[in-house]
Amino acid sequence: MKLVTRAGWGAAPSRYDLAYIASTHGTKIHYEGAYVPKSLAAPGAHGSCAGHVRDIQASHLANRVENYSDIAYSAMVCPHGTVYEGRGLHRQTGANGDQLLNRAHYAVCAMLGNSGLVVPTDAMLDGLVDAIGWLRNGGGAGKEVLGHRDGYATACPGDPLYAWVQAGAKRPDGTAPQGGTSTPVPSSGGIARYQVVINGLSYGYGAQGPHVAEVGKALVKAGYGKHYQVGPDENWTDADTKNFSDFQRSLGFTGTAPHQDADGVPGPVSLQRLLGHLPGKTVKAYGMLPFPGRSAFVLGKSNPAVVTLDNGLIRKGYARHHAGAKYQPGSLFTTYTRDNVRDFQRATPALAGDADGYPGPLTWQLLLS
Ligand SMILES: [Zn+2]
Ligand SMILES: [Zn+2]
Repeated sequence: MKLVTRAGWGAAPSRYDLAYIASTHGTKIHYEGAYVPKSLAAPGAHGSCAGHVRDIQASHLANRVENYSDIAYSAMVCPHGTVYEGRGLHRQTGANGDQLLNRAHYAVCAMLGNSGLVVPTDAMLDGLVDAIGWLRNGGGAGKEVLGHRDGYATACPGDPLYAWVQAGAKRPDGTAPQGGTSTPVPSSGGIARYQVVINGLSYGYGAQGPHVAEVGKALVKAGYGKHYQVGPDENWTDADTKNFSDFQRSLGFTGTAPHQDADGVPGPVSLQRLLGHLPGKTVKAYGMLPFPGRSAFVLGKSNPAVVTLDNGLIRKGYARHHAGAKYQPGSLFTTYTRDNVRDFQRATPALAGDADGYPGPLTWQLLLS
């Protein structure tokens, strides 16, 4: 399972405390019900998916009719099969229609539309099964898997996805059927099973990627590979956690219970010591750049500070307004610049009250920090 936590996709904070929920009857499946471009499912488009989740959250937070506390869904699943934590485990959803329905089921939304991208990809179906399993194993979700339209008058989740729900919400290869017949994941026995994000890459149970394999190989090389029965490979398993815990203890870290220093989930210090470097993109310290003054941001005027502003917008994923193929950094303050700044301001609680699209000192600081 590829899970991106709220921190991983850059979630804005909840507006209100989210209601705790101990368990549900199961999970309801949703779609976005708007236009979703087919291009989002292209193999090279996964870089846009986190920004897409941020857009959904921003639109929910801006919806004063529903007065949402947060993104309405428990989780979202992209066409490439990655699961994005929404409200998450043990938090009541806001997506199922009313309070009673929201208490009864979690809500998982596929990034599918009612036009454009309307047919789920195989990877997306795998991701949906992953998300259902995640809610069942970690969030007390019961065995039901239903569509939003079950119990509420809506077209959601669209006919193609609803047909999949009715056929038993199975993986594309027909295995691991959901709905109560899959074997629950055994308890972790005190092994840490959370993830951290360092330089934009996830580590810990369930994390995947070449950087995970790099850690595993480095552990073996350093003599901390005894818990591997297979691997190491690109999937972070409990064996990786145990080996990393051994390595952390060799550095003098103590405490192997989850969230203690030697629990086997890397921090920047232990990771740097193991690898000799930190993989991923180092976030530049823009915070030291002083606010250039409001006169630097005038519609139709150029200023070098606009390039810095644009880089911040792109880095935080507020770049959906642009003239052509893609939003590019440049010194000219355009209406696209203003509209992207406004999106960022609207999505940031401290700025949402005065979202005029023109940066002041606080917008500058929050955007570039
Ligand atoms: Zn729905
Ligand atoms: Zn994706």
